[in-house]
Amino acid sequence: MILSAVIVAAAFIFIGSFGGKAVFKEKRQKIIIDAGHGLPDGGAVASDGTIESDLNLAIAKHLYEKLHAAGFECIMLRNDENSIYTEGNTIHAKKVSDIKNRVETAAKNDDAFVVSIHMNTFETPDVHGAQVFYKSGSSISKDIAVEIQNIINLKYQPDNTKVSKPIPSNVYLFNHINNDSVLVECGFLTNNDDLSKLKDADFQEDISKSIAEVITYKLSGSETNVE
Ligand SMILES: [Zn+2]
Repeated sequence: MILSAVIVAAAFIFIGSFGGKAVFKEKRQKIIIDAGHGLPDGGAVASDGTIESDLNLAIAKHLYEKLHAAGFECIMLRNDENSIYTEGNTIHAKKVSDIKNRVETAAKNDDAFVVSIHMNTFETPDVHGAQVFYKSGSSISKDIAVEIQNIINLKYQPDNTKVSKPIPSNVYLFNHINNDSVLVECGFLTNNDDLSKLKDADFQEDISKSIAEVITYKLSGSETNVE
């Protein structure tokens, strides 16, 4: 889509309308990108040893690049393979510290939109496809999740019949923050087709691009090609 010319009132902060950048009508929107898990908590593990936290990070990094380039202020909750724990001597204690630090950053930036990246698993290998969740009670979150789900299904997973749903109430991060949020479970590590796609660098970039395009359009009102 081509970015159409936009007249921005002088009082507003103008964040470039060229080069595919979003145009923010009031202020630059902040986005928190949450790559789920991180060592020593790798999250789910596929049969070939692929760990969820690595795939989450790969997609989160693409998202950062794309949303940053589109003009958003982006905060990555983790930038490398490690989680962001600051204390604890056991894996459990480190996980608790990590999730509390994530909550703290989101709470400090409660005007930021949170996009969280995870991978799914199921007890049988037939279950497949991305599933997008949204912060319950947040209409913008639902709006964005519905659109991300539609685009992923349409572009990459035509036999994916999943529809977006509210984030379950027992997910610690999301029941401790008020930020508008979406949680993208990008696919199932227990399904071979999903796994090979999720490990594929081109697919990682494609799914990130779709997520970034929806967020850019919905949060800035700009139709922009995300590079
Ligand atoms: Zn996970």
